[in-house]
Amino acid sequence: MILPGQTIGILGGGQLGRMMAIAAKEMGYNIAVLEPNENSSCAQVADVEVITAYDDLNGAKQLADASHVITYEFENINGQTAKWLEENAYLPQGSQLLTITQDRKIEKKAINEAGIETVPYKAVASKTDLHSAADELGFPSVLKTARGGYDGKGQVVLRGESDFPEALQLLKNNECVLEKWLAFEKELSVIVTRSVTGETAAFPVAENIHVNNILHQSIVPAKISKDIEEKAKKIALHLADAFHLVGTLAVEMFLSTEGELFVNELAPRPHNSGHYTIDACETSQFQQHIRAVCGWPLGRTELLKPVVMVNILGQHVEKTLASIDKFNDCKLHLYGKGEAKHNRKMGHINVLAETVEQALEKIKELQIWTD
Ligand code: ADP
Ligand code: MG
Repeated sequence: MILPGQTIGILGGGQLGRMMAIAAKEMGYNIAVLEPNENSSCAQVADVEVITAYDDLNGAKQLADASHVITYEFENINGQTAKWLEENAYLPQGSQLLTITQDRKIEKKAINEAGIETVPYKAVASKTDLHSAADELGFPSVLKTARGGYDGKGQVVLRGESDFPEALQLLKNNECVLEKWLAFEKELSVIVTRSVTGETAAFPVAENIHVNNILHQSIVPAKISKDIEEKAKKIALHLADAFHLVGTLAVEMFLSTEGELFVNELAPRPHNSGHYTIDACETSQFQQHIRAVCGWPLGRTELLKPVVMVNILGQHVEKTLASIDKFNDCKLHLYGKGEAKHNRKMGHINVLAETVEQALEKIKELQIWTD
């Protein structure tokens, strides 16, 4: 067990690291963070700041020297760094799940091998592959880079053959997967945690609304049947065991119009769609993550009150700050980021209410997200 008073090293200095650090500090831990940019969101609340590139082994060594346990807040960590830390420091999450989730091709294969369905897809590495995959999957379909995509970046939707040139452009420098386009009913996600002792717990299912491929809102409880809620959690718990997860795994899913669940993608860390847990659950996803990697028993995950989480992007900051006098039932979380760039995730608000409809009504009244 890693005890309070000891130091948790976090790879990555973004908002997820910051919220992990805040949870850990409440529990009495010290924080060291490795991040290429100084004064990062996480470094602002950390005790030790290591400023190096993620692939600088020297930096990883400095982090290891300062820490009793190491975790990560972002999944595109250089494989070599992760491997070095796994062998030379205490990285209870290991590097295997990182390797799997860094590549959509490997990730989908692993999900299928665990007996869980994804939307039909084909790996695509060449023009020939693209044509045969499109023949098989039909239109519309979506070509996604295997590595490094986020917030819809690195994706081309194919509505017909006229979209091939754009797809080939994406394919030129990237291995890809082509996926069948699913006219889904809803997008759901489940955050699941597994501790170093093998104990697992899933948070309530979130219903996620994306705008321009960026998460806009998470609505909890999701407007789905009890049966779907249970099935979604079961899938997440199954994957946690199948992958010998340690720490946190976010499982994004599609609910089809026929009521079937397909896993879209995984993130081996706390996730934007789990931010609602900070104010609305007995335990937050961040505290749960710290519990898991430090060897504590997991906390309870019950939802205490209906909640809607809404993201604050760069373009929403000004109106947010001008609306604070209306925040009696809003919990504001800002990440301490400098420049409020368009579409940059700057913070979020959790709105708790008697029903999610009331929370959504309140959000509408605020008129912050009107662009
Ligand atoms: P990332 O979040 O890494 O950018 P995703 O695979 O989650 O990539 O895709 C972003 C969003 O695009 C999804 O949340 C969903 O709204 C939409 N999308 C992705 N794949 C499909 C698909 N096969 N069918 C329908 N919508 C999709
Ligand atoms: Mg996604």
